[in-house]
Order: sequence, then structure tokens, then C-alpha cells
Amino acid sequence: MISFDDKLQPLLGKKTADALETGLGLTTVGDLLRHYPRRYDERGQLTDIRSLEIDEHVTVQAEVRKCTKRRMKARHGHMTEAVITDGTSELHLVFFGKVAFVAEQELLPGTRALFAGKVGRYRQNLQLVHPAFEILTPESDGSEFLQAFLPVYPASQHINTWNIANCVKQLLEIWDGVPEDPLPLAFREEHGLIGLEEALRAIHRPESWAQISVAQQRLKWDEALAVQLALAQRRKASTARPAPSCARRSGGILDAFDARLPFKLTAGQVEVGEQIAADLEATVPMNRLLQGEVGSGKTMVALRAMLQAVDAGRQSAMLAPTEVLAAQHARSLQEMLGDLAQAGQLGGADVATRVTLLTGSMNTAQRRQALLDIVTGEAGIVVGTHAIIQDKVEFHSLGLVVVDEQHRFGVEQRDALRARGSVENPHVLVMTATPIPRTVAMTVYGDLEVSALRELPGGRSPIKTSVVPVREKPAWLDRAFARVREEVAAGHQAYFVCPRIGDEEPAKSDDEDKRPALSVIDVANMLAQGPLRGLRVEILHGRMPPDEKDAVMRAFAANQVQVLVATTVIEVGVNVPNATVMAIMDADRFGVSQLHQLRGRVGRGSAPGLCLLVTEMPEMTATMERLRAVESTLDGFELAQLDLELRREGDILGAAQSGRRSALKMLSLLRDEDIIAEARLAAQHVVDEDPDLEKHPGLAGMVATLLTEERADFLEKT
Ligand code: ADP
Ligand code: MG
Repeated sequence: MISFDDKLQPLLGKKTADALETGLGLTTVGDLLRHYPRRYDERGQLTDIRSLEIDEHVTVQAEVRKCTKRRMKARHGHMTEAVITDGTSELHLVFFGKVAFVAEQELLPGTRALFAGKVGRYRQNLQLVHPAFEILTPESDGSEFLQAFLPVYPASQHINTWNIANCVKQLLEIWDGVPEDPLPLAFREEHGLIGLEEALRAIHRPESWAQISVAQQRLKWDEALAVQLALAQRRKASTARPAPSCARRSGGILDAFDARLPFKLTAGQVEVGEQIAADLEATVPMNRLLQGEVGSGKTMVALRAMLQAVDAGRQSAMLAPTEVLAAQHARSLQEMLGDLAQAGQLGGADVATRVTLLTGSMNTAQRRQALLDIVTGEAGIVVGTHAIIQDKVEFHSLGLVVVDEQHRFGVEQRDALRARGSVENPHVLVMTATPIPRTVAMTVYGDLEVSALRELPGGRSPIKTSVVPVREKPAWLDRAFARVREEVAAGHQAYFVCPRIGDEEPAKSDDEDKRPALSVIDVANMLAQGPLRGLRVEILHGRMPPDEKDAVMRAFAANQVQVLVATTVIEVGVNVPNATVMAIMDADRFGVSQLHQLRGRVGRGSAPGLCLLVTEMPEMTATMERLRAVESTLDGFELAQLDLELRREGDILGAAQSGRRSALKMLSLLRDEDIIAEARLAAQHVVDEDPDLEKHPGLAGMVATLLTEERADFLEKT
């Protein structure tokens, strides 16, 4: 009896097992059986070379006429070119990389073989690029190669897809299935799913598309269900310990703050504010995700929540991803609060509290004072980077944690946070400006309740976005610089964003055709000496010492610096309402959501914002299409969806989902919304009745495997 946990060696030979491990990290039977084909090549019929058509997938039987290997001129490495014939017509083949060597050795003139691939054209000739082939010998008639569906596996330089297919085949021959399907029969019937063994056999050795599809359905369900069960359990666990109830109090600091607000809260702010206020009063810990465009007023909502906690005698912590941001948050909270943040100081209001900043770059005396304020409870609001939760900072009475920019704050950090309270779990509010597609919210942030602010506060000027195609319209760039000068002349300020800092080793491009990306340092010099001469231009990037960064931010906020050239450090949260223009250089090197996020930095005041996407990309390329999409809409949710379609899903999930990527092998966050939603309901149902899954050992096993994989993945990354 072979089980999923059995090692591949000695089931497969040592050499093969080693290659699977080094190349693909597959060590057990389960690993290999869940290494699913990327796609299937349909073979079957042999085609005559004479009747080949461009773009068809074909298999031909032919004899090699000649085969030569040579070094490539433009690129690194070798290519092998071959000509094959079926007696009447000829066909050209090319191979690259390692296969070029194999092909040269095996495709000797006179050899008969089967070749399968997609028909293309090069100059006058039809050709197959990098076709799969199988040499015909008296022992091997190629019937295996001609089977209807040939699985194509994710491969590596250590082991190719044919070898993997072979390993899987060997394994399936000796595998006698699972002793018990982890999904109970009734459950499978309810959701129309086939058994696990049947699904695994079919996914590797299918006989029809229909078979592939039902197998995929089952395997996707397994993934979706494991994730949703884990999330349902997490939701349950996070409410196991009570939270401090923070009751609203009339005549307190929140009332005083509301009374002096210079504007009316938007309908969304009122609605979400009510939800949060009610959450805070309960003893069930709040776990809420607040989504909203940059400038939609999330910070306002968070501040009001923190004041409710202060009214209840509790402290709040606000965590930002960087020190720059933390310092800025502290400053703007202080500004918004005015004398309400001056407890114990001359002129402080009666109900006042104190906002305390805690960062790694503070000197010892400052730090000691801050820690003292925190432990005594003098500090009602503590602002810092995520490091606060790692450090052993002691709070007097922590009631609420606000996390700004969810994207860099994963499940593990949230768990660490919850573990901070000794008897109680603080309430948690996470805020993100990056709109999250529904499936991602359900999968990655599924342990959080989700609220959204969908409108911008009134009076906010819209951002106008223009693509500046410098190759085709070089004059537009000059006009862009002129525009920046005009804005500055009118008392406003500008950002230039570049993909690279420019202090690294001589920039090497991974692609020889592409020049290195523009850098902060070069662009700042170019601007200061050329088109923007006479203006005060400063730089900001992540590798500057914290005090320098802070000084630059301060000078920019005070309009002593008119032009800030920066990396994406300004992406999150930097708030200078007087900045009205942003030029994003080499805009094609940024993702759609990132561009959207970046441009949110302008147009935060009453003057209209302008965002210029400067690029050398030609029209009609996929990259340009992306930029045009950003130009054409301000709807972050639409752009997030586009991002999901354009980029590999793993990227969009980023670090936020930590290990979740490895768990989702077959499930697509783009296409499988139905399965995810259904699995979520089913999981909630199961966990409600059986929180520890004691009556569902199969399901418990699935969750355990998922969590082990995630943990391994997480540790690898940190
Ligand atoms: P976010 O955190 O979502 O980016 P903020 O809370 O920082 O947004 O708000 C952006 C700006 O809008 C701030 O200057 C804030 O004072 C202002 N603001 C917030 N709510 C309102 C409102 N209801 N009406 C007018 N201005 C508002
Ligand atoms: Mg904000």
C-alpha cells in the first residue's frame, strides 16, 4: 500500500527522484500526484507535411535529413536546426536550450521519428519550434506518443515534461488509491464531485476533455475547501478570547472631535463608522478589512474608531508599513486632533489624549519616553511600524489595532497581533487602498469582514491621467515639463516616480533589448540641470537613512521642496494635498494597480490633479494597452480585475497571502469564483457544527496539509 507521504525514492530511481526534488521540490508520492499537467497536447492523427497549416497543432511522422547545432548570434546559448521529410515534402525544426543538445545527438540523419508541435513560419518555410519528438525503433512504435492526450507538465532544467510524465505513469501503475476519500460520500454527492483516486488518475492520463473537466472540478474543490475550512476555523479561533468592549461615551473625546470637524462625513464614512462602533462595543473581537480608494477618508474612519477606544479608557495602535509613513500618520493625526492631542500640555483640551510615535530610528531617550507613555497609558494612540508587534512593547491597555496598507500585512502578522493580548484580543481594523477582487478577498482575507468606502469626499478634484508616448510624440515630454513649471509657478508641487534608485551596481537589464529603467538619481540630476533648473528638486527612496527621509518629507510637506523624485516609497499614504502633478517615468515597468495607487497621491487637495504616464512603449502593444486602461478609468476595482487577468495570480497576491500560493495549484482566483463561494459556504457549515473537525478526519487532514505547506512556504520567505 503506497501512501501520499511515502518518499519517491526508492519507488523511482535515485537519479530521477533527485531530479524531481532539486528541479521541482517534489519528494513524496502526494507531491508528484499533485503536480498537475499545465496543459494537454492533443495528438492522435498523423498529418502529411504537405497539408500542414499555420498555427495548427500537428503530429508528423518523418525522417531526419540533416541536423546542425550552432551558437546563436543575438542571444546567449545554442540552437539546433533540423530538416525532416516524409518523402514528398520538407519541414524545418528548431530547438533551443538543453533540448538543442539532445536533438543534435538523437536526430541523426536517417532517423525516423514522430514530431509534435505547433506549425509556424520562418521566412519562406513552415517550421515547428521546439517540437516534442519520439524516435521510432522496432521496440517503440510511438503508440504511447500518439495517445489522445499528452499531459504537459511544469518542468525544470533538471527534468523535462516527458520524464515527469513517465514518472507519473510508473507511479500510477503501482498506486492502489487512497484508503478513504477525504471528502465524505454524501458531501461529494451534494456537490457533484468524483472520487479523489478517479480524479487523480484522470488528470494525469485522461481520455477525453470531459474527463479532464470533472477531474479538475474535484481537485479545485479540494483546494478551495481546504483554504475555506482553515479560514472558518481561524475566524472561530480569533473570537475565542474576548475583546475589550469599548462602549461609546457621550461628552467624550470622540464627541468633541466630531463637533469640530470642518466637513460632513460622507454617507460611506457614516455607515462604516456605525459598523465599526458597534463592533468595538462587543466583546467579540472585531476583524474588519476597510477598503477604499486613496483619499476616500479611511484614516478619518480609523481615527474616529481610535477615539471611541480612548473614550473607553483603552489605547489604540496604528501600524504603518514604513517609518516615513508612520511619522507622517503621527503628524497628520496630531494635526487633525489639534488640542485634543495635547493631554497634559498647556492649552490641551479636558478630554485630550496623546499621540505617540514609536520607530526604530528614535534615539534611546526618545524611545524610553515613548515606551513609558505607552506602558502608563498616557499615550492613547500609538503610531509605529509593524515592528511594534514584533517588539516586546508593553501597552497599558490595548483595545484596538489599526493596520494601514493590508497588502504588506499577512495572516501570520495578524495572528501575531492577536497573540499580543494576554487575556484579551484587541479589535483589529485593517485598511487597504488597493481594491481587492472578490475572490481574493474570500480566499486571502477570508478571516476578515469586509467594508468599503466607494465614494470620495465631496470637493475632491478628479485626477486626469495622460499617457506620454515619448518615442512617438517626443514634444509631449517637453510639454509635460512645461506643465510642471506652470503648476509650481501657481504654488503647487510635483512628483516624479522612477522604477529604480540608481545607486546599485552598474544596472544590468535582464533583457538585452531593453535599456535599464530610469533611476531616481539620474532623473533628479537631469531635471535639476535641465528642464526644471531653478526649482528645488529632492530625492526620496527606501535606502536613505530614516532621518534624511523624514527631513525630505517634511521639507516637501512645507513646500520648501517643489519637486520630489522618488521610488514607489511614496505609493502608500504620503499625503501632500498641495502636490498636483505626478510624472511616472517608464510607466510601463509598473503594474496596473500600482499605477493607480501612485496617482492617488495627486489631486488630494482642492486643485485638480494630473498624472502623466511617461513611456517609450509603442502603441498597440499589450503594455501600452495596460497604460491606456489606467488612463481611461479611475475605477480601482475595474483595474484590480484587469490586473488579475494580466498578471500571474501569485504576483497580485504578493506577500499578503504568504503560503497560499503553493496551496492553490489548480484553483484560479480569476475563473473559479463559483467554486470558491460555494466552498466557503460549505466550510462555514461544517465548522459551525464541528469546529475542530473531529467528526471529519479527512477534512481535518486536508487542513493540516494546507497549513504545513503554508508554514513551510512562509518560513522559506522570511
Ligand atoms: P485615506 O486614508 O482613505 O487615503 P484620508 O482619511 O487620509 O483618506 O482622507 C483624505 C483627505 O480627505 C484628508 O485630508 C481628510 O482630512 C479629508 N477628508 C476625509 N473625510 C472627509 C470628508 N467627509 N469630507 C471632506 N474631506 C474629508
Ligand atoms: Mg490614508
